Amino acid sequence: MFIDSHCHINFPELSVRMPEILGKMADNRVSHALCVSVDLPDFPQVLALAEQYPHIFASVGVHPDYEETPEPTVDDLVRLSQHPKIVAIGETGLDYYRLQGDLEWQRERFRVHIRASRATGKPLIIHTRSASEDTIRIMREEGAAIEAGGAAGVMHCFTESLEVAQAAMAMGFYISFSGIVTFKSAKELQAVALAVPLERMLIETDSPYLAPVPYRGKMNEPGFVPHVAEFIANLKGIPVEQVAQHTTDNFFNLFNVMR
Ligand SMILES: [Zn+2]
Ligand SMILES: [Zn+2]
Repeated sequence: MFIDSHCHINFPELSVRMPEILGKMADNRVSHALCVSVDLPDFPQVLALAEQYPHIFASVGVHPDYEETPEPTVDDLVRLSQHPKIVAIGETGLDYYRLQGDLEWQRERFRVHIRASRATGKPLIIHTRSASEDTIRIMREEGAAIEAGGAAGVMHCFTESLEVAQAAMAMGFYISFSGIVTFKSAKELQAVALAVPLERMLIETDSPYLAPVPYRGKMNEPGFVPHVAEFIANLKGIPVEQVAQHTTDNFFNLFNVMR
């Protein structure tokens, strides 16, 4: 069985096709998916999906690319995460690629999420793009690490260097690979995936974006996540079942949910 640790099936282009999407998950042995929240106005729909389907989990958070959206407080995040199907805080983090200028608000929002994660013990889903130094620094300053009393979490859709992966793993974080790792141009990222041990790895689609090869350029969905696992298995020269087993176990360990 495979688990998609990060998708956005509440987005309209996917939510209108829900029966088909759930069917494809079943056909491709994708047992669970985590539907990740990107802002507070959409959170009720994310939660509704998790409440409707036993094998869909959800998170609460506000994405760093959403500038014009209600700003969450620590209390908001703590309160909204008090639900057995809300298993994580995020997605949060820093993105200096999509947005430029004075991004102090992004860093402040990121800190709020880390505080909520520490308060609830629910792990973080961290998005970082062209901002790895500040991301790691703020994770340290706010005590995101297990040994600092934090709940750790996952560096999602990982595209950074091995050094960044190692810094996050040293804090107890997992590294999640998306369809990007399957792209021909992603040689450096493939070297990172080769070096990240299966014990610290998750897989994801980040659908509807970033469909893995052979669906590159098409609309992505959770049922495609085995292609990420197969690519990593080939890279490491191991059976895909081994990647499936570890990434599934890791998911249940990190998000502290019953199978
Ligand atoms: Zn993201
Ligand atoms: Zn995402």
